[in-house]
Amino acid sequence: MPRLPARGRIGSCLTVLAVAGMLVIPLGCETSRSVNPEPATQTRSDVRPRGADPSTPTTPIASIAAPPGQHATRCGHYVFYHDFDLDRADPLFAELEALPDQVFGELGLPPSSGIIQIFLFDTQDRYERYMRYRYPSLPIRRAYFVAEPRVGNGADELKVFTWMGDHLRTDLRHELTHALLHSVLKDVPLWLDEGLAGFFELPPEQDGVNPLHLELLRRGPFQPDLGRLERLDKVRQMEKPEYREAWAWVHLMLRSTPEAKQILRDYLQVLRGTDKPGLLLPRLREAVPDPEQALAEHLSEIHIPRHRAAGPP
Ligand SMILES: [Zn+2]
Repeated sequence: MPRLPARGRIGSCLTVLAVAGMLVIPLGCETSRSVNPEPATQTRSDVRPRGADPSTPTTPIASIAAPPGQHATRCGHYVFYHDFDLDRADPLFAELEALPDQVFGELGLPPSSGIIQIFLFDTQDRYERYMRYRYPSLPIRRAYFVAEPRVGNGADELKVFTWMGDHLRTDLRHELTHALLHSVLKDVPLWLDEGLAGFFELPPEQDGVNPLHLELLRRGPFQPDLGRLERLDKVRQMEKPEYREAWAWVHLMLRSTPEAKQILRDYLQVLRGTDKPGLLLPRLREAVPDPEQALAEHLSEIHIPRHRAAGPP
């Protein structure tokens, strides 16, 4: 089982050892719909599908149905639920704790006081069996963000599901970005949600530059079409090329000119008040008359940071 390395200190993170089950969210709080619930109203996932074994699981249904919850570790806006020991000194906790300030500061959004629940499975197998049972219509992905309506009134419950794999750092940053955006906005168009998550999933020192995306887009063929991206409204419509293009448009707006960045910031302010914000492309054209040409030039000029941060082992 992968373990987080023992480096540095965490500061305000707090681990609570819970009697098994006590801190597991009751099933009734996880869904107000049915015993075998369908996906919640909002889901976002990592693009890279995993090779799921479609065979019928042999594990007793009770263990499949229960998410991790023997321990709960509080860290800033997050509560990690897990069934194994976590190294609280791992610098990943501090990095994740700083993510809200990074996201909200960059985008000019107000801070959120909402709590995000992170269910951290020990193995890929247990994670996938749980997700197939709990969200049977979702394709298997490495990690998921789910916004579930709370029983009664109140803000949605924000949940992230993933497992202790090699991509943990990137996956957590990606899904937590979704959760943070949904904690302060009425809605986020699918392409923009994924583009922003693709920007912030990278370690801070990467400054949003994804070298692999950049290499593939520069190599081409690549014909950007923001109008097409804006029409996508289903998770299954987002494949790797769409994720790459969404990242590229977001990077253009956040890292090319102050005017382009302001267009995105203004659009996000609109999303604070309505889930029907209209299209971004006409607004972008006000500051960038030829967005496709501007994107091509921007991609050719992006500098790849030389300093790479080491991820978890
Ligand atoms: Zn995503």
